[in-house]
Parts: sequence; C-alpha cells; structure tokens
Amino acid sequence: MPRILPRRDGPEDARNRLAPRAKAALHESVNESASRTAVIVGAGVSGLAAAVVLRRRGWRVTVLDSSARVGGAARAFRRDGFLCEEGPNTLLVSRPETRAFLEETGMLAKACEAAPDAQNRFVVFGGRLVAVPASPAAFFRSPLLSLGAKLRLCGEPFRPRGRDPDETLAGFVRRRLGPEPLRELVGPFVSGVFAGDPERLLVRHAFPRLWRLEQEHGSLIRGALKKGGGAGPKGKLVSWPGGLQELPEALARETGDVRLGAEVSALRREGGRLVVRVFDDELGADRVILATDVDTAARLLAPHLGDALRPFREILWAPIAVVHLGFRREDVAHPLNGFGVLISRARGLRTLGALFSSTLFPGRAPEGKVLLTCFMGGALDPEATLLDDDALVGQTLRDLDPLLGLKAAPAFRHTARWPRAIPQYESRHGEVAGACAAAEAALPGLRLLGNFRGGISMNDCLGNAVAAAREM
Ligand SMILES: Cc1cc2nc3c(=O)[nH]c(=O)nc-3n(C[C@H](O)[C@H](O)[C@H](O)COP(=O)(O)OP(=O)(O)OC[C@H]3O[C@@H](n4cnc5c(N)ncnc54)[C@H](O)[C@@H]3O)c2cc1C
Repeated sequence: MPRILPRRDGPEDARNRLAPRAKAALHESVNESASRTAVIVGAGVSGLAAAVVLRRRGWRVTVLDSSARVGGAARAFRRDGFLCEEGPNTLLVSRPETRAFLEETGMLAKACEAAPDAQNRFVVFGGRLVAVPASPAAFFRSPLLSLGAKLRLCGEPFRPRGRDPDETLAGFVRRRLGPEPLRELVGPFVSGVFAGDPERLLVRHAFPRLWRLEQEHGSLIRGALKKGGGAGPKGKLVSWPGGLQELPEALARETGDVRLGAEVSALRREGGRLVVRVFDDELGADRVILATDVDTAARLLAPHLGDALRPFREILWAPIAVVHLGFRREDVAHPLNGFGVLISRARGLRTLGALFSSTLFPGRAPEGKVLLTCFMGGALDPEATLLDDDALVGQTLRDLDPLLGLKAAPAFRHTARWPRAIPQYESRHGEVAGACAAAEAALPGLRLLGNFRGGISMNDCLGNAVAAAREM
C-alpha cells in the first residue's frame, strides 16, 4: 500500500507537525530486517526514478523529502483554467534509459506529445520573430546570418579539432562556427537551457553532445550528417495533462513509502550501514542515495570530506523568474505557431524568452485564451529576479509587445522566482565528478544523484538515476 504522507501546508508547518506520524514510521523501517534497504533523500525526479527502479528489483525503499510535496523543481498548478508550470515545462525524452523507464512505468503512454507546431522555434532578429532554420536549404535562405557568416560555416568541416578540455561554449562556437552563430543562435539557446553565460559554461560538461561530435568526427557538420540529423539531441518532447509534476506523483505512488516534511540533517556510517537523521530520529539502511540539490549534499557530507567538497561549493547557480501571462486569443496578433521565442542578449531586452505554452500542449489555457510562459534573470541578469511582481510583468510586456503584437493587458498573470534555479557547469566543473567519487568512496553504500552531475535536464536526471539504481 503506498504510504505517502501528503501535506497541504508549508514546509515549516509540515516539519512541526511531522513528529508523531512520521516518527513512528521511521522506527518501523529502522527495525525492519529486510536485507536490501535503501533510503533516498530527495523526492524530485532523480530520487523517485531511482526509488522505482530499486523497488522493482525487490529493495525496500524509503524516500524522504523536506518539502510538503513531491516533485522538487517540477511543480505546476491550475488557476482560472490556466495550467502554469513554475519549473520545467518540457521533457525531451532522448536518452535510451529514460525512454525505457517511462515505457516500463507506463508514463510514456500517458504523456502528451508537443504539438507539431513546436518544431518552429523563433529568435528575435530585425525587431521581429524569425524561425530558426530547420534544414540546410532554409538555413542558407535565412536572414539570421550574413552571407560571410554562411560561407564561413562551409569551412567548418575542415577546421582542426580543439585540444582544450576546458574550452567555454562561446570559445568553441566562435572557433568552429564564427561569432554570428554564437550571437544569433547559440547564445539564445543557452539562455533557454542553462539560463547561462556561454562565455563561462564549459562545452565538454554543459553540452557534451557537441563536444563529442567534434572529438569523434572532427567536425560538427560531418558528425551531425553521420548521425543522420542536426547537432541537437533527438527525441520525444512530452509533458502530461496535469503538467510535468504528474511524473513524480506517479513515481511516488509506485514507490509507496514517501515521507514528506522529513528534512534530513545528518548522515553517518555505523556498523556497516548508513544512517540518516531526520529531526531527532534516525533511519538506517544498506544504501543511501542523496538526490538533493548540491548545497544540501555538500552540507550533509561536510563532516566526512571537508575540503574535498570544494567543487560542490564552487558551483554557481543561475536565478530565474518565471512570468505567466494569459491573454484572450484576439489580443495577441502573432499566431503563436511554435515552441516559443528565445532572445539574444544583443537585442538589449531583459526577457530571456517566452514559451507559447498553450500551443505546446493541450489544456494549458481556457477556450479562446492563450498562455505565455516567460523567463527573466539567468546568469547574465540575476538582478531581474529581484524585481517585484508588477515590475517583472511590466518589463515582460514591454519586451514582448512589439514582437507579438499585444493589444490588451493580460487577463491572467502569475510570477514565480527560483533564486537557485540551474547549476552552472562552469570552470572546474570537471572536478565535481571527482568529488562525487571521493564522497562515495568515503561512505560505502552512498550514491549521489542530481542536476549538479551529468546533466541538468529532466531527461538526464532520469537517465542518470535509472542507470545508477540498476548498477546498485
Ligand atoms: C525554472 C526552471 C525551469 C526548468 N526548465 C526545464 C525544462 O523545461 N526541461 C528540463 O528538462 N529541465 C528543466 N529544468 C531543470 C530540471 O527541472 C531540474 O534539473 C530537475 O528537475 C532536477 O531534479 P532533481 O530530482 O535532481 O532535483 P530537485 O527537483 O531539485 O529535487 C531535490 C529534492 O530534494 C529535496 N531536499 C533538499 N534538501 C533536503 C533535505 N535536507 N532532506 C530531504 N529532502 C531534501 C527537495 O525538497 C527536493 O524535492 C528547469 C529548472 C527550473 C528551476
């Protein structure tokens, strides 16, 4: 029988009211004699995917999360007929492990695939929305790059391989493709994925697929042709009718034993087992998976590793503000026939981009209305996330009005802020893997998962969690 202890109140209330029920539950597990037990700290997609794989393999699994709900960053709500994603909006299912896992759990069958229009992706150029070219022919017709830049691209297959493993994405793109593609295409794309600074993100860690194309094939164009597609990952772009949080909710139901309002404050090894502390209780298991944010992992591991955790503490985060705007369909001149628009920093606008959410998936806006999900902040403009709600909405409207033709004030608005939204894979990110290995060696039975290691996307978090749990 699933034993989720859902709480409708905030984490602080949940913490205060956890005691009698959850304490009893903790002791039950401590006294259990099953040979293979695992405690998973963190009920985001990483922790819950690992929990489901272990459970299916016969492990006795308990998931603990400090918050009052499952899903971590994946959180959505419905108001006035609008379905608003406050965190991630789309899951690109491109890794084989992720796809197999979603198939096995039946969640791929329940997913809604993005509308065909989502293949159109826009950037801003010349004061209007221009589609990112999807084929070589469209590329050569596109106004996004000058003739000189297009001709320079033809020389890409003949440029030598890079040798610097710590090359930034900007350096990599300038070297292989030139400065214009960086400004008009790659820069906006980096805002959309990492909310990051291409001059600081390391290509090998942040965009390993690009890095491998050059290393394995000597050229992005040659590599992409050999792989039969573009340089980007291919896969199904999905969500669920109730938003992405339907996935962690379903995984939590299958896991059964998920305890909310349970903040883990310490971790130690004792008598061949790992023991976690939750308030004034302890819970022991053969294995512990830490699937929290990297700051929490660093705090819990500090007594055991000290300075070896420096790479964890050096990870910088990009903050993000999310602005949902709902309009009557007739109040937006643009047909919104695409995934959305990404905006180059060179355009001088503060909005990083806007998803056409009601185009992407059905049921995101009431009949006759449309929903835009807009982003501000990121590594290059963190102060934007400090604006108050009116200023955030006002700035977004000023930026988007000339591009989308807004004819009236939004009928619906909602804002959300993530002070620590996306960990940035910047200089010395390569040392994070070593710090994870050191932690796992110092505390046998420990495994670290999360978006600070091996990819920030839900696709990577799920794929890494599934692979790790299968190895255990
Ligand atoms: C605004 C935003 C937009 C994004 N957009 C996309 C997108 O469109 N597509 C995409 O693929 N990815 C996107 N991402 C990234 C993606 O959502 C995350 O990287 C991913 O969901 C992280 O999952 P996780 O399980 O590793 O961590 P989290 O979801 O952060 O879960 C960690 C969990 O650990 C819990 N926890 C922390 N400390 C403790 C403790 N001491 N004790 C117990 N529990 C604890 C937390 O409460 C939390 O539930 C976005 C992220 C943000 C913030």
